[in-house]
Amino acid sequence: MTTEKHGFEAEVSRLLHMMVHSVYSEREIFLRELISNASDACDKLRYEGLTNADLLKDAGEFSIDIRLDKETNTLTISDNGIGMNKEDLISHLGTIARSGTSAFMENISGNEKKDVNLIGQFGVGFYSVFMVADKVEVLSRKAGEDAAWLWASDGIGEYTISSAEKAGNGTSIMLHIKDDAKEFLDVYRLRNIIKTYSDHITLPITLISKNEDEKAEEEETTEKVNDGTALWARPKSEITDDQYKEFYHHVAHAYDDPATTIHYRAEGKIEYTVLLFIPSQQPMDLFDPARKTKVKLYVKRVFITDDCEDLLPSYLRFMRGVVDSEDLPLNISREMLQNNPVMRSIKNAVTKRILSELEKKADKDPDGFNEFWKVFGSVLKEGIYEDFERRDQILKISRFETTADKGLSTLDDYVSRMKKGQDTIYYITADSLAAAKRSPQLEGFKAKKIEVIYFTDPVDEFWLQMMPEYDGKKFASVTRGSADLDDKKKDKKKKKQTPEIDALIGVLKTNLGEAVKDVRVSNRLTDSAVCLVADDNDMDIHLERILKMHNKLEGAASARVMEINADNPLIKALGEQATRDGSVDALKDASQILLDQARIMEGDLPDDPVAFATRLSTIMTNSFK
Ligand code: ADP
Ligand code: MG
Repeated sequence: MTTEKHGFEAEVSRLLHMMVHSVYSEREIFLRELISNASDACDKLRYEGLTNADLLKDAGEFSIDIRLDKETNTLTISDNGIGMNKEDLISHLGTIARSGTSAFMENISGNEKKDVNLIGQFGVGFYSVFMVADKVEVLSRKAGEDAAWLWASDGIGEYTISSAEKAGNGTSIMLHIKDDAKEFLDVYRLRNIIKTYSDHITLPITLISKNEDEKAEEEETTEKVNDGTALWARPKSEITDDQYKEFYHHVAHAYDDPATTIHYRAEGKIEYTVLLFIPSQQPMDLFDPARKTKVKLYVKRVFITDDCEDLLPSYLRFMRGVVDSEDLPLNISREMLQNNPVMRSIKNAVTKRILSELEKKADKDPDGFNEFWKVFGSVLKEGIYEDFERRDQILKISRFETTADKGLSTLDDYVSRMKKGQDTIYYITADSLAAAKRSPQLEGFKAKKIEVIYFTDPVDEFWLQMMPEYDGKKFASVTRGSADLDDKKKDKKKKKQTPEIDALIGVLKTNLGEAVKDVRVSNRLTDSAVCLVADDNDMDIHLERILKMHNKLEGAASARVMEINADNPLIKALGEQATRDGSVDALKDASQILLDQARIMEGDLPDDPVAFATRLSTIMTNSFK
């Protein structure tokens, strides 16, 4: 038996040098690469067998075995796929047989960390075995041939090839595990790695280990580790609802039922399969800023990552499931994913598809859509300010509660209910529906039967900044600017302006000074005595509060316009007081309490709660004298 010595191609040597000395933190990926190669080899033979049935003659069922042996410190990955003959071994495992070799060489930087990522990108996964092994033996027999070959190397400079014996076709790769990589001889560790990366390889993967207990009846324990089927790769018609549900549980680590299942295969220039779910319940970490998406990226049924920001926009981060690409290279690095044109078009197309599914659902199953909206609407709405291209589309399917109390309504619903001559979409923003409903600023609108939308998610404040109008109608906050409910009303308002009210306005202005921007008669109040509104050019009160809460705003809150209700008995009484001599001093406490009261109705604290309580006590005491 002769043993031939071969030198590695120069670039392979450099590659191997990097592998051998690699400080790569995810060494476990060698197993993913080997399993993926084994799976490819089986796929190839299956494919060739279509036209050459002889090749499959003694192939049996395709499978991958992983055998670990602690005594010899070896890990052996075997498949019964296409196998390699001598020429194959030389060209596949001694050179970089990719068309991109020269590009690869140009990109080699000498910076080890960067280069290890490149290795992934160029699909030279086999060589990653040298991160964990100091000697590798590849025993292979090509399907349809009798001769078997043994390829062996320690990853330094050269490899040997000798003729060998092997029972069936396929490849057996034996790794002599390095001292510092013994973790890869542990059954639990291996099971875990396979589960994580290769659970959906469409072949059975069996883990075989020697029984350490000498008294055990069997010498070995065998265990089928993976599920063995990539559900998403099967035709829809063959998949039951229960199977979808179980897969959702597995892939989402969740136990609710998926509310919507989206499963399709995109064919054409870029090919990929999508199996995505909308959960019915809100996942715990939906607002964790660290996780943009949890959809798993697969390449040819091999798991790549579940932390890929570029797979879906973050406003769709409630989606769960997998996207499986046929075009990306295996072991693509995170950096490479970032500006990848394939990723970009997948992201675009999948986003488009999800939104159109949502539109369909909104149309055909409004109740179901409303359920979805209650759980994920606040996340989806982030898209209105994040996704310039799709903001109109998202806004169109968005739902809101309104003063009309008709449940969730769309903006189109609102517009269709607008009063004749109304050209403005009125809204109020608040922290909650309850708070919004309590707002005194709504009183006048309710009395005039003008519908007002409740925007109760923080995100509403932000998209409103980007969308000044909808369907040609301006958005206007009822807590901002002068509420010109209609012209007739304005005339009436003028009539209300009695000398008493004028006097009170003067007293309030004097007493409150800088604390208010202005004091005026309100036409938006019908019951309450006072409210605060923002001036046309000032920031909305609620937005200011949100920004303050997130420390996005420095300094004191800007002064507000105080509006008083001329029909309110308290205001009338104060008005009478205001016409008397010395009223400025007499109404000092009352002025301050009026302002604090308005703040409290906004959900804020009085400027000085203790002073507020003292003043209130004084007034109450006086009233009982
Ligand atoms: P890639 O899989 O991206 O081509 P690898 O470095 O993982 O790159 O593998 C190099 C080549 O070696 C493969 O393309 C294949 O031709 C061959 N090869 C590796 N493992 C096997 C195997 N188990 N059976 C048959 N061929 C294999
Ligand atoms: Mg490979």
